[in-house]
Amino acid sequence: MSRAERSGTSALLTARGLRKSFDDREVLRGVDLTLHRGEVVVLIGPSGSGKTTVLRSLNGLEIPDAGTLEIAGAPEADFTVGIDKNERFALRDRSAMVFQHHNLFPHLTVLQNVIEGPWRVQRRPKDEVVAEARALLSRVGLADKEDAYPHELSGGQQQRVGIVRALALKPELLLFDEPTSALDPELVGEVLLVIKELADEGWSMVVVTHELAFAREAADHVLFLDGGVVVEEGPPEQLFTAPRHERTQRFLTRIL
Ligand code: ADP
Repeated sequence: MSRAERSGTSALLTARGLRKSFDDREVLRGVDLTLHRGEVVVLIGPSGSGKTTVLRSLNGLEIPDAGTLEIAGAPEADFTVGIDKNERFALRDRSAMVFQHHNLFPHLTVLQNVIEGPWRVQRRPKDEVVAEARALLSRVGLADKEDAYPHELSGGQQQRVGIVRALALKPELLLFDEPTSALDPELVGEVLLVIKELADEGWSMVVVTHELAFAREAADHVLFLDGGVVVEEGPPEQLFTAPRHERTQRFLTRIL
């Protein structure tokens, strides 16, 4: 199915008016975000603009002070009213996050790291989970590393394991929080390639990144955040080549 066809499908995620303060500082000031099934939405913007807080709000790691969030399969969360523990778990179940630092357990092998969530948390049968984990590791070129420990892998390999660990949870959508910013420059490409392939396979994802070339190539929709608001959004070809807002223009000329 082409991107255009996929984008025509109904919304998988709808966030409206997300607001969040830390101490007395409002870092999200009414953020809207819609993701259709099979779409890649990329968040860009200066450091401190609120990108990570938006992402973390989408899976219950951060609870906004106001706004609503609806992800297919979970009841709408109304943050203005407040959500309970069950609603928070329901949100968290829908997505899997890939962090800037892979956060692998150092004392577990690659395979053990991957099966930990689906086997121990989701309580799925171990045989099934191991078979799926092996297939996923092979899929990202790490079939021969299942018995290795994280410290025996390169940063790029560790991050690919981090991605496999997210996939093994069989989430509705993937959330990437600057997945390559902790890597040496020569290792960035292999991780972006895996993410791009997942996008091409039809995974729904929200990606926070400073890799604008990747954003341009992989995104269906780009949001430019500054000061806790979405200043501008649109398809990458429009946002990168003909940004309408002066703040977007300034950001792009500074970073490119
Ligand atoms: P970005 O991802 O665009 O760099 P963040 O969402 O990480 O931005 O952060 C937005 C602002 O919120 C920053 O000023 C950051 O310091 C602040 N912030 C984020 N998380 C916390 C927290 N847990 N406690 C206090 N301040 C935070």
